[in-house]
Amino acid sequence: MATIPERHSDNAFVLPAATVAGATIRATNAQACSPICNAASGETIGWQEHASEAVVDRAVHAARDALIAWRHTTPGARGKLLRKIAELLDADRTRLAAMQMRVSGKPPFEADLDVSDAVATFNYYAGLCENAALFAAETVQVPDDALLAQRTHEPVGVAALIVPWNFPMVTTAWKLAPALAAGCTVVLKPSELTSPTEHMLVDIVSEAGVPDGVVNVVNGGGEVGAWLAAHPLVDKVSFTGSTAVGRKVMQTAAQDMKRVTLELGGKSALIVRADADVAHAVSLAVGGAFANAGQMCSATARILVHDDLYRKFMAAFETAVRALVVAPPHGENTAMGPLVSAAQHARVTALVAQGVAEGAQIAFTGTLDTGCRDGFFMAPVVIAEPAASNVLWTDEVFGPVACVKSFRSDDEAITLANGTRYGLVATVVTQDTNAARRYKAQLRAGLVWVNTPQLIFPQVCWGGLGLSGLGRELGLAGLRSYQELRHTVEARA
Ligand code: NAD
Repeated sequence: MATIPERHSDNAFVLPAATVAGATIRATNAQACSPICNAASGETIGWQEHASEAVVDRAVHAARDALIAWRHTTPGARGKLLRKIAELLDADRTRLAAMQMRVSGKPPFEADLDVSDAVATFNYYAGLCENAALFAAETVQVPDDALLAQRTHEPVGVAALIVPWNFPMVTTAWKLAPALAAGCTVVLKPSELTSPTEHMLVDIVSEAGVPDGVVNVVNGGGEVGAWLAAHPLVDKVSFTGSTAVGRKVMQTAAQDMKRVTLELGGKSALIVRADADVAHAVSLAVGGAFANAGQMCSATARILVHDDLYRKFMAAFETAVRALVVAPPHGENTAMGPLVSAAQHARVTALVAQGVAEGAQIAFTGTLDTGCRDGFFMAPVVIAEPAASNVLWTDEVFGPVACVKSFRSDDEAITLANGTRYGLVATVVTQDTNAARRYKAQLRAGLVWVNTPQLIFPQVCWGGLGLSGLGRELGLAGLRSYQELRHTVEARA
């Protein structure tokens, strides 16, 4: 961690430690800050000041103070604001995507997709707000006509939103839109690596007319997240990140019985049955393992291929992976960008070395474009038939590394796919509808795709089983996760 550089001394921006009740809070010299890098060039392009514990406390109090007025706005009024946020995000998509590219090194189509996802999420929750019945008291049938029983859904209160760096703006939108729709006020803690787009998003929220204090932001690393998650005035923590940190967040939340939603890691499978179209399977494997440079909780990095197709699949997969252009985002045909940071690059490289030391065979790798000299780029790596105990088969890598294993029967494929304590997603490639039905029923995952890329819609809930997390985001369940279910039973007059 560095000390604060003289502001703008090197033409780099310095992002403030916090935004609390509409006011920018700058760090004092005693507080730390960290650099924000351009992942494609390795250059420091800005600095992120870190909030102190006292600033986190101010932010939570600001959210608490704003709660009473905000929770009593009508869902319709909140829906109008969410619609406006979506409109402003859409209008600003070029600038937002450019910042995603500049910081994370994402290729233009990936950066633009992130904006589209955020826009769709705010629009979806605006739509739910327009449906007054979802927020109204509902009668519950009880076997006594003299009684009126009702259920209501009320805002949980102050929500702490803690997000990672791989899809900044998207993971934030998945939390912020339903929290605001429900009538909660929030304190957001972005990843210190990718906070610039989150700053832009929060500016847009303010420009849309969301009152000061409803959305507050504290910046910094794990320490700041831990202060926020532990704050006694926080009613709910919605966390996206690693399983290791998710476990700590859950332990901390247990102290005050805070509500938690945890979106954690994964080690998902893509299954290619013998009847699959090989070209289609390869295209799904490339997208599932190497989109966002493999830095996806939903990466289908365990690829299971029926023995009959294995050699044909591997040949076509190798051709596709070698053709993948790994390059800076502005390259003409860039298909895959860099890893987010030097630390992430070192972590993934070390895991590959460990896997190889444990006996994993590298079947083939992709190549780096000439423009990749200075950034945190890594060529895709494909491992063939790793042992079931190999670290690359068992652990989440969070980089462009895929393992391929062959299988001989559906039973074996399902056992292999489910042979993990994670359970986020799975993909099946088959032309047999009966087989697809069986896989959908038996794969242990929060979301199963059949013959499609990793399509994500705000209408369809997201979340995993086992070590992949707790609760669901998106969909109606995403709204309900920011509400408390209450009941009343009264004697009819
Ligand atoms: P991380 O767990 O290191 O950090 C996530 C966030 O938590 C960051 O903002 C970080 O500063 C903060 N944090 C760190 N320590 C904390 C603590 N003790 N208390 C509170 N907050 C703390 O994860 P990362 O490296 O930023 O992201 C990669 C991980 O995120 C991967 O494991 C990936 O699978 C997961 N992820 C999951 C989903 C999902 O939807 N399931 C989506 C994206 C990423």
